[in-house]
Amino acid sequence: MRMFDPHIHMTSRTTDDYEAMAKAGIVGLLEPAFWLGQPRTHVGTFIDYFNSLIGWERFRAGQFGIAHYCTIGLNPKEANDSRIAEPVLELLPRYLAKDGVVGVGEIGYDDVTEAEEKAFGAQLELAKKLNMPALIHTPHRDKKKGTERSLALVKEVGIAEDLVLIDHNNEETLPLVKKTACWAGHSIYPDTKMTEARMVELLKRYGTERMIVNSAADWGKSDPLKVPKTAQAMHAAGFSESDIQRVVFENPVAFFEQSGKLSRADLGDRHFDQAELFEGNSVLRGQAPVRA
Ligand SMILES: [Zn+2]
Repeated sequence: MRMFDPHIHMTSRTTDDYEAMAKAGIVGLLEPAFWLGQPRTHVGTFIDYFNSLIGWERFRAGQFGIAHYCTIGLNPKEANDSRIAEPVLELLPRYLAKDGVVGVGEIGYDDVTEAEEKAFGAQLELAKKLNMPALIHTPHRDKKKGTERSLALVKEVGIAEDLVLIDHNNEETLPLVKKTACWAGHSIYPDTKMTEARMVELLKRYGTERMIVNSAADWGKSDPLKVPKTAQAMHAAGFSESDIQRVVFENPVAFFEQSGKLSRADLGDRHFDQAELFEGNSVLRGQAPVRA
């Protein structure tokens, strides 16, 4: 079964993860621009980070047969840093025009500050103007209020709800998102926030339409195989193959296809040759290259 992980920060993961993901059926993924665990203090570090998302990381995924796409944006946490917020926002149009960049994100609220609201609104306006998908992160604290305010801002800006993915939902926020035409993302974590078992219950209750699951794996305690593990949990709960396929592949692909820069024809059976180099660098350390 083909799968797509629509929220994973591969920059912080290993080649072992790429191998395991490919083996489990993941043929494509979406890496949202995010913060790196430690605040950045210069706009130049964002330029290098954005370049690595569309350059080296895209190449690295391809070396394991996985198609890599990204969203570019100023994350809510660093929107609070006046040294970088404005100059990073100014960079965005240039990056959003590039190949492999299929949306604006991740954007949203963290602490629900004025600076976050300003950056969030400006980036939603940009997504609306460019007719591109927007990936919205909902805060981990005071999640319900953050989700309500996010949905209110979506309405205020007037971006089509079809183009909006509200992420990191739980039992409390999903009913709010289901009242709109926005897509609902769920990040499945080891032990906390949302588990495969709870996700299965949500899918039983709300159906599979516009429902999306991801691993949100990053540099913290997380698991890059949570999409295939959710597929297994759905299978064990008696969901049909077509329902499972809809949640782990069709829905996220349909959402990001709206960018016009992602095609399902590019997903699966990708040829790769690990003897290839990117700007002179290889993923190999003397091992025999795999080709497929
Ligand atoms: Zn994330």
